[in-house]
Amino acid sequence: MEGFRALPSVDQVLLSDEGQALIARHGRKGVREALRARLDEMRDAIRAGEDGARLAATLPALIAADLAARDQTRLRPMLNLTGTVLHTNLGRAILADAAVRAAVIAMTSPLALEFDLETGGRGQRDDPLRTLLTELTGAEDATIVNNNAAAVLIALNTLAGGPDCQTREAIVSRGELIEIGGAFRMPDIMARAGARLVEVGTTNRTWLRDYESAITPQTGVIMKVHTSNYRIEGFTAEVGAADLARIAQAARVPLLNDLGAGSLSDLSHFGLRREPTVAEAVAEGADLVTFSGDKLLGGPQAGFIVGRRDLIARINKNPMKRALRLDKIRIAALEATLRLYRDPDRLAEHLPTLRDLARPQARIAAMAQSLAPRVDALLQPLGFAAAPCLTSSQIGSGALPVDTIPSAGLRLTGQGGDAPERLAARLRALPLPVLGHIRDGALILDLRTLHDEARLLTALGGALSGGRSAP
Ligand SMILES: *Cc1c(COP(=O)(O)O)cnc(C)c1O
Repeated sequence: MEGFRALPSVDQVLLSDEGQALIARHGRKGVREALRARLDEMRDAIRAGEDGARLAATLPALIAADLAARDQTRLRPMLNLTGTVLHTNLGRAILADAAVRAAVIAMTSPLALEFDLETGGRGQRDDPLRTLLTELTGAEDATIVNNNAAAVLIALNTLAGGPDCQTREAIVSRGELIEIGGAFRMPDIMARAGARLVEVGTTNRTWLRDYESAITPQTGVIMKVHTSNYRIEGFTAEVGAADLARIAQAARVPLLNDLGAGSLSDLSHFGLRREPTVAEAVAEGADLVTFSGDKLLGGPQAGFIVGRRDLIARINKNPMKRALRLDKIRIAALEATLRLYRDPDRLAEHLPTLRDLARPQARIAAMAQSLAPRVDALLQPLGFAAAPCLTSSQIGSGALPVDTIPSAGLRLTGQGGDAPERLAARLRALPLPVLGHIRDGALILDLRTLHDEARLLTALGGALSGGRSAP
């Protein structure tokens, strides 16, 4: 029982200098709770025979560490050196400065979100984006929802779901019944949208006549889906959007083209494979085109639907629209992002996504050469080595899935078969976590997305001076 007396009371600690410093930092409530928990633990340990004085001496450091861990947010900055530029699990696109400024204004000031400054009457929240989207895509009209999954959901529900549960049919090729990840599976979305899925063709080949013979008076929509994250190669046949548009028009059925990543600019200017832009998809005759805000477009999360005015009007009248609408912060950031597309020549200067994708391999390799010896010096004491290497990046988020972009980076190696995993865990635990990818027995840091050498060096410096060390 002697041992218990060696432990301070909660109030004694709260009144001490150390306690006061912790309160200033973490708040009285949190310090008190952390203290109670640790003191309970220590009493159990004393009962089990441990020395009270020894335990009491460890208390301040333990509490400080507990509170620091509690207040450490997972949503802190990190270095994405995975080589995947648009990493869905890391939040996809990094916003342009102009978008960040616009978002801050929207967060900190009233703004005319649904207010017409000219008439003093009510305005439409989508209007600023609508103007830009029609200008940039050539579409008649546009509407905006929470993300592209929502865009597909509301478009299908409007065209083939029907408020009176008069389910109509949605025709899709079997080769395009995709799963995007995160439980976005086209057949499930169809079902939730209230549309009856009509599959046509086979996994690898679908012909125009397959679509034609599936059209009935019950058809609500013909859908084309960008297969985003996979590609079928070999003995294949796919019907292009222009041909589909022709038969859709003849049958007076709308064609919905889900582009997924959907770029507003021609990526071949940046050395990437040419993909149809949104404007081209519109010009090909799709009645509605859907695409994401935070993929190739480089903005915040959003889903765009552009196309025929009468169909957009029907979507805007769907009660789902209210449930899927965007907040002012993202509307402001999107407007600023879309404005950048008015000057395509300088996009790569202003839009981080395109800046990263367009960065030439030679430039990245030069950075790798310069960083390698310094990173090597930092990692040597931990038993790891760093060398420059060539590697390849990918766009990510289902854009050009099998295409890679030549890149460069650092190859980190160590003793033992699990060295890459051990080092990866250690770098994840840093105050500024560093994420790479493991390949061929090494941890690769792709430097395409690193723009400040000092940031990596400072982050890795933390690997030596503590960080939370991993097992
Ligand atoms: C990514 C993608 C979606 C989902 O878009 P989110 O913006 O992530 O909701 C839907 N369809 C296709 C073809 C995609 O590539």
